[in-house]
Amino acid sequence: MTKMTTRNNSRWLQVVEKAPVGIMVLSLKGELLDCNPASEQFWQQRNSLAGPPDIIRLLQLELDKLVDLLSTPAQETLTRTLHLQPQAGQPDQLSAWISFRLSGLYDAQGQLDEILVCHSDISDQTYNQQVIENTALGVSAQSGQAFFDSLVIHLARIFDARYAFVGLLEHDGSGHSIRTLALSIEGRISDNFTYSMHKTPCADVMGQKTCAYTSGVQQMYPDDLLLQEMDIDSYIGSPIFSPEGKPIGILVVMDNKPLQRIGQVSSILEIFAARAGAEIQRRQAEEKLKRMAFEDYLTRLPNRASLYQHLKQLLHKPAADTTPEPHSALLLIDLDHFKTINDALGHDIGDEIIRKTAERLRHKLPDDLFVCRIGGDEFVVVSSELKNGITLPEVKLLTDKIQYLLNQPFQIGERILNVSASIGVVMFPQNQLYKNCSELDLMRFADIALYQAKNAGRSQSAYYSPEHQLAVDERLEIERGLRQALTDNQLQLYMQPQVNLDGQILGAEVLLRWLHPEQGMIPPFRFIPIAEESGLILRLGDWVLEQTLQLINQWQSNHREVPQQISVNVSAWQFSQTDFVERVSQQCARYGIAAQQLVLELTESALLHDIEEARFKLQSLRNAGFRISLDDFGTGYSSLAYLRDLPLDELKIDKSFIDEVKTGTNPPLVESMLAIGRHMGLDVIAEGVETEDQARQLHAMGCLRYQGYHYARPMPAQTLPDWIAEHSLQES
Ligand code: C2E
Ligand code: CA
Ligand code: CA
Repeated sequence: MTKMTTRNNSRWLQVVEKAPVGIMVLSLKGELLDCNPASEQFWQQRNSLAGPPDIIRLLQLELDKLVDLLSTPAQETLTRTLHLQPQAGQPDQLSAWISFRLSGLYDAQGQLDEILVCHSDISDQTYNQQVIENTALGVSAQSGQAFFDSLVIHLARIFDARYAFVGLLEHDGSGHSIRTLALSIEGRISDNFTYSMHKTPCADVMGQKTCAYTSGVQQMYPDDLLLQEMDIDSYIGSPIFSPEGKPIGILVVMDNKPLQRIGQVSSILEIFAARAGAEIQRRQAEEKLKRMAFEDYLTRLPNRASLYQHLKQLLHKPAADTTPEPHSALLLIDLDHFKTINDALGHDIGDEIIRKTAERLRHKLPDDLFVCRIGGDEFVVVSSELKNGITLPEVKLLTDKIQYLLNQPFQIGERILNVSASIGVVMFPQNQLYKNCSELDLMRFADIALYQAKNAGRSQSAYYSPEHQLAVDERLEIERGLRQALTDNQLQLYMQPQVNLDGQILGAEVLLRWLHPEQGMIPPFRFIPIAEESGLILRLGDWVLEQTLQLINQWQSNHREVPQQISVNVSAWQFSQTDFVERVSQQCARYGIAAQQLVLELTESALLHDIEEARFKLQSLRNAGFRISLDDFGTGYSSLAYLRDLPLDELKIDKSFIDEVKTGTNPPLVESMLAIGRHMGLDVIAEGVETEDQARQLHAMGCLRYQGYHYARPMPAQTLPDWIAEHSLQES
């Protein structure tokens, strides 16, 4: 107050004249009485008509109320902010925010005399604040991709720029490039792209600071083809930093015309670059977590969860109107005998094989295939979603290629290892046919096909078909039923006589029968293989031997005539049990049956797994007094080399060879089998002899033992003594 009194009126006049704030004096009727140059100039710029407007109207005030308000002794002031839009026909004009402050001027008696209006342009502050608020409001609720999308959309809209994008810095082979995370072109989100930063303004932005080029940026960066292509004139870019302060990306606004308010745009970009940095950070952490959940730790391939997600997408794609419908293929790959390798050579080597298998599959197969590891030694390859799908011949090529890739020896340290793979294939229509087919169903189908492939031997592939499904359902039912059969007495022993030329009984083969309560008699070829796979054969085999010994024991006690020898079929699994020899010996001892009364029928498959072990076991069995018969002779490898070394007593020529025997023809294979038997001092028996002709011909060729329908069909075991009695009657 004291200072003010030191100035005279003319000095005050100068202050008013030079003040950057607009000052207007109104009468109590609202008429403009006076204004300073700043005010006059401002209104002239805003209004081509020149001169200050009717402020009271402009501010939508009621004069009476205003006068009342200002008349009070408290000397109230009133503030108002006005947003002025550019005038028509003034394209360069920007919108402006003006702050008004109205107060009273009083006479000596303290009566309200005139109205003082001060106004100043607060556009810059308001603009910044509004942009930040608007942008923040627009993007704050978002996260992830939605955040980036709405950020670029908002920035472009607020700055009225044609382009805005967020980009991530990538280090590729040829230097740095930028991959856009979100790109707005003319107010719409567009496809992302990657471009090299070399000799572009972005490279300078990555030099740690915000760069702004109001116009003419194309001329400054003549090597930046993208600027030319998009016809960019102005460019503002702000770097995005990691928490450690390393530049990781960029936030850019560009336009085809010079950009206004470059200073504000820059500072706002910096604010949102920081916000984008935080979002990138969050997203990368999230992606890492996701990767960990969807990635196989050993091979870094996608894992089972990822496969299911992929299949779900494939299966739920909307139907295309194409006929025939394109197909996809799912290949389930399983390394052969991997478990053995793992057990024998150790898990480190096993892991290394898995890793190298993954590498071959990922790098030697086309990029567009989905390749994943679903656990253990199982991999899955899914064909890509090409428009025309994949055809059967293409799948065949693919499986061949995979098998070829995995058949190449693996070098692991000093070792060279040979591995092969079996492949189960499911072809599935890209949308319709397998309606309601889930990804789990697809995997089950693939499993079934893989099972077929494994059955066909190593290094095979098999295609799923619904019949396989039936087979699988049936086998499941049989497996379940068989367990029931063992406890419910549904199993029965049959026996089939083995005779000499005169029809005299030499022995009998025990054959298992299953009388199912609903399905009737189920033949052994339907349940024995399933029993062998499920391990149930061990219990079945035990049961058969037990029942057989019990029966022989019973016949002996009842003084019934018992064939010299009873043949029992022994499966490879039973034979492979380490205690097989002791087991059988003990069982015989328990029923008081001499080992000499039993013939154990074995097939080559039981003997060939481990020939040394087999020879040892066979020798022990023979030492104990059991006789050994090689069943189904001729159907396997029948290599003389191994036969010579095995302690056997009998060869049983398979029925398929006996079928060839007719009057007047000596099938050469049967002849040579008989010769081998003679040569090795073994008995030879023909099985499946159905006619008198065959019997006579076989005899002529030197075969002395026969089994077949011509003599007797398999019969319930209890009835065998009656059959013998009847036949010896006929004979005598
Ligand atoms: P296998 O050991 O080769 O048994 C001979 C099969 O030929 C029996 O079939 C028998 O009924 C049949 N057969 C005998 N003579 C003739 C003939 O003149 N013509 C024709 N068409 N067939 C004849 P089955 O009883 O159906 O047994 C089939 C296979 O099931 C057996 O073949 C054997 O591998 C297996 N099997 C049967 N019982 C047992 C058992 O108790 N244990 C084990 N491990 N396997 C068994
Ligand atoms: Ca047999
Ligand atoms: Ca046989």
